[in-house]
Amino acid sequence: MAGRQCLATEKSTATTSREQGNYHFVRNIPIDKEYDVIIAGGGPAGIGAALSAARSGYNVLIIEAMGCLGGMGTSGLVTAFDPMANGEEMLVGGIMYEIVMKMYKRGFLGPDEKPEIFTKHYHHWTAFQGEGYKLLLDELVQEAGIEVRFFTRVIDADVDTTRKRVNGVIQQNIEGLRYVKAKTFIDCTGDAVLADLCGVTCREAGKDSPRIMPATLCSIFANIDYPNAAHVYNNNPLLLQAIKDGHFTYTDRHLPGIFKVGETVGYLNGGHLFGLNALNCESLSKGMMLGRKIAREYLTFYQKYVPGYEKIEHATTASLMGVRESRRILGEYELKYDDYATKRKFPDQIALFNKAVDIHPYNDSEEEYKRHIKEYEQTARLKPGESFGIPYSILVPQGWDNLWVAGRCASSDVRVHGSIRVQPAACMMGQAAGTAAAQSIKTGQPACDLNTETLIETLRIAGAKLPQEKLSAKMTRI
Ligand SMILES: Cc1cc2nc3c(=O)[nH]c(=O)nc-3n(C[C@H](O)[C@H](O)[C@H](O)COP(=O)(O)OP(=O)(O)OC[C@H]3O[C@@H](n4cnc5c(N)ncnc54)[C@H](O)[C@@H]3O)c2cc1C
Repeated sequence: MAGRQCLATEKSTATTSREQGNYHFVRNIPIDKEYDVIIAGGGPAGIGAALSAARSGYNVLIIEAMGCLGGMGTSGLVTAFDPMANGEEMLVGGIMYEIVMKMYKRGFLGPDEKPEIFTKHYHHWTAFQGEGYKLLLDELVQEAGIEVRFFTRVIDADVDTTRKRVNGVIQQNIEGLRYVKAKTFIDCTGDAVLADLCGVTCREAGKDSPRIMPATLCSIFANIDYPNAAHVYNNNPLLLQAIKDGHFTYTDRHLPGIFKVGETVGYLNGGHLFGLNALNCESLSKGMMLGRKIAREYLTFYQKYVPGYEKIEHATTASLMGVRESRRILGEYELKYDDYATKRKFPDQIALFNKAVDIHPYNDSEEEYKRHIKEYEQTARLKPGESFGIPYSILVPQGWDNLWVAGRCASSDVRVHGSIRVQPAACMMGQAAGTAAAQSIKTGQPACDLNTETLIETLRIAGAKLPQEKLSAKMTRI
């Protein structure tokens, strides 16, 4: 897709034109105030980006399609943080660490979660309460003076394609369309929506790769008798019995299970939506309906088959589809599985991580389930005490001046994406992108030629755990 250009007039209106088949559409759009940094998407990546840029002294706008911050962790009901430590030490610092510690102190984590566990244990998921997380994020952005527009979507971009610069975005909400300008832009939409509108080269699941990792519509359940509850997950005999009885739409043996988020409350990560294409609205819409039907099947499965869940009630399904894979940018560097497997460290690494490469089964056959388990057990995990680096260069679309892309849609191959797409890594990438945007405004350095030695030093001061001894002014490109 080619980048688009809007023509702002002196009368505070903008004119945008686009070709839709044979239909030529022109309209005047009012111009809003200007910002230093605009962030599209207020998930963990957007939060990390917004807080770091605002705390550096810049005025920041978050444009968020839903009615709360947190992204998949709140609107998507994915109420657990993926592993933050490697069995020996905490890898996650900075804003993500601040958030999880504040949540612990406020009683917003699951009742069994403790710092001595989530800052040390190998492959430990930290369950949390979505409402507490929403409240804390509201407070943090307000304290930092960040402006937020909920129920607002970025729907178009005004781009100087020659200089690879974004001038402004078109947002849509109850007030209609607005043209909003900024000095810098960070795409944290999970789906690389802004990058795609700008004409950045992207990889799309199902188009540039033959398969799409399945989505899951997550749920919250109540009234679980945890002291007497059986732990049911992958290939459990109770699950296999229910599959044999024809209980489910899919013969899906892969069940991550229910995570304890309250004394009787659990978050279900279960029920894959095979083949769902999150970049196709019809597929997404049908997926929401099928997801709700399947969530009900899990409710009755737990009630009928699993001890401790006889009185379980279904509180709600998510309002945001749990998308694992959709669109990723092609960045200055594309992080590869080899980098992960060899525990590669980078001079410009902005985070260290250890989490497994988690590629869910692509269909509900037994054969595919076995493929998944074999891969997960044999090649997908680093050992305790190990880690790999996430370089700055995966946040920068090739050659771009004032655009960064953080979180699930950063630049990586599909396998390592199965590790870094999760909330703690997204937040650390966001913090790096927000810090980079601030540095760029201050120094005039473009995103694609930012001094990464300065960036790493700033991130260290902000609490990021970046032990690399050798720094480099230039980012990693090979
Ligand atoms: C079923 C499932 C289970 C998972 N389990 C875990 C887990 O246990 N632990 C873990 O840490 N991670 C887990 N993950 C991964 C994780 O939740 C996400 O990958 C992570 O939240 C990505 O962060 P992000 O900030 O990049 O995007 P998101 O969290 O997806 O946030 C993107 C935000 O952008 C907004 N947005 C999108 N388009 C626009 C637009 N055009 N304009 C304005 N706003 C827009 C969205 O509304 C959303 O709020 C899971 C994912 C799935 C699907």
